Amino acid sequence: MTIEDILLASEGDADHGSVPESQLSRVLELFRAVEDRPGSEGGFAARLSRAAVRHGERRRVRLDVPEDELLTLLGGALPRGSAVGLDAYANMLANIVEPHTVNIAHSKCLAHMNCSPPPFMHELAHFVSRLNQNLVKVDASGVLSVIERQTLAMLHRLVFGCSASYYQDHLARKETALGIVASGGTLANLAGLWCARAACFASRTEFDDIEKQGLTAALRAHGWDGAVIVGSELMHYSIHKAAALLGLGSAGVVSVPVDACQRVDIDALEQAVERCARRRLRIVALVGVAGTTDCGSVDPLHSLARISRREHIHFHVDAAAGAALLFSERRRDLLTGLAEADSVTLDCHKQLLLPIGTGVLLLKNGRSAQVLEQSAPYMLHTESSDLGKLSLEGSRAGSTLLVHAAMRIVGPAGFTALVERHLEMASRFATLLEASDDFELLHAPQTNIVLYRYVPPALRETVDRGMVDLAASRALNDINEALQQFEYRSGRSQVSRTTVTCLAKYRDMRVVALRAVFNNPHTTVDDLQEVLDEQRQLACQVAAHTSFREYAVG
Ligand SMILES: *Cc1c(COP(=O)(O)O)cnc(C)c1O
Repeated sequence: MTIEDILLASEGDADHGSVPESQLSRVLELFRAVEDRPGSEGGFAARLSRAAVRHGERRRVRLDVPEDELLTLLGGALPRGSAVGLDAYANMLANIVEPHTVNIAHSKCLAHMNCSPPPFMHELAHFVSRLNQNLVKVDASGVLSVIERQTLAMLHRLVFGCSASYYQDHLARKETALGIVASGGTLANLAGLWCARAACFASRTEFDDIEKQGLTAALRAHGWDGAVIVGSELMHYSIHKAAALLGLGSAGVVSVPVDACQRVDIDALEQAVERCARRRLRIVALVGVAGTTDCGSVDPLHSLARISRREHIHFHVDAAAGAALLFSERRRDLLTGLAEADSVTLDCHKQLLLPIGTGVLLLKNGRSAQVLEQSAPYMLHTESSDLGKLSLEGSRAGSTLLVHAAMRIVGPAGFTALVERHLEMASRFATLLEASDDFELLHAPQTNIVLYRYVPPALRETVDRGMVDLAASRALNDINEALQQFEYRSGRSQVSRTTVTCLAKYRDMRVVALRAVFNNPHTTVDDLQEVLDEQRQLACQVAAHTSFREYAVG
């Protein structure tokens, strides 16, 4: 059955008459409160809720249906027919959408950085959507603007630890911002680097403002030949997007090699800084990564802070994946130096387990965001506390309420427990890998991401003796790529895959790695062994495939 069949079969519920009055009454009916609506349509919410529950209980992470088949199910590029009723649409959600989405709450889904939020978050998200406040200005959001400012203060305190009176003062002021709420880490990074760019090019004679006159004029006035962003080769690609948007070009991102622990190499970084000076390139920001997307490693933030201070460069930390370590008693020291950053990106939809759409940029200095200030005659009065004055996005949902709720309901101690549990899972998984004959732990996990790969018995000795040549390396890569694909299609478990080029052991060789992210509160200790057992079985299937016969298992 395709969606067409489902929708057309229940066409009776919709009035397709072309008389405008009946269309209007049909549509106005949709605006009536669900509670007041008679009959089956009132069941829309209940049906969606049942579908969502069923989704979470699915035994498989996903069904293996190719994308072109999904498009056919959906009726092709442009569905036929006109408007449909709520019942018909609920049928489509229950029969096509729910079964063909990924069950990220599945206890063996270890592939993603985001996870299934606790159920109270769904209710809260629903509440936010029903009130539909617009955080761009106080007139359209009321107390939610104050809650956003309070939430920023809580997060700012967590990172920068200023005194309680500092925050009290700040909240009374309107012209500063402790941070900028955004839909994710990408926009938070862009906002942070935007503030950094403005800070580099102060006004001079014949030059006012980079926001007004642009980068070329700014470079000319300040006597530079170009502008760049410097950071580790493992920086997230959102930094490249930001560089492109800010006029530096993605080629304006200077990538510095990492050390054996996947952290930026400080000597190489010093050399890069020197090279930039020689070539008259203004470094707009030094970026530290706290939790690389690849493997969760954390740059030596304290050293980066020292260099930034010495060179008068804005220090931005991309802690989208790693800020939650602030809650960890065992690993918080990895973030030493974070409080010296000028700006910090957090992504609450990663380790804090919130629904997607909750990124935050924190600014050490509340005035940094003033570069963003715009106003329009019909809104955003300078003397108001409208958050839209100092934010990158315009209309914004009140999703900060979700962050606020998480901080108040799960609470710091709750997050400590969760984060420690995830770190513990990662280290147990690493231990299992180390003890096994057929997997290779690629490096000891610094945080909650583990990189590893399957090694067939025929190659075990070669790997153990560090004698992997190009041919063996290619075979290992192909087998692991195939294994990850087989697992993905089986839907019984899921890890992701990445390519690492900076492992000390395999210097310069491209290593395809399986990547397990421990961020799923549903994962149990038993799941760890079970995922590996499943991967072993799949490895047998991979090996049975003609192209891998020579590495056949057992
Ligand atoms: C995920 C991630 C981002 C991007 O965040 P989005 O929320 O996906 O936009 C940026 N940096 C790092 C290190 C990340 O892990």
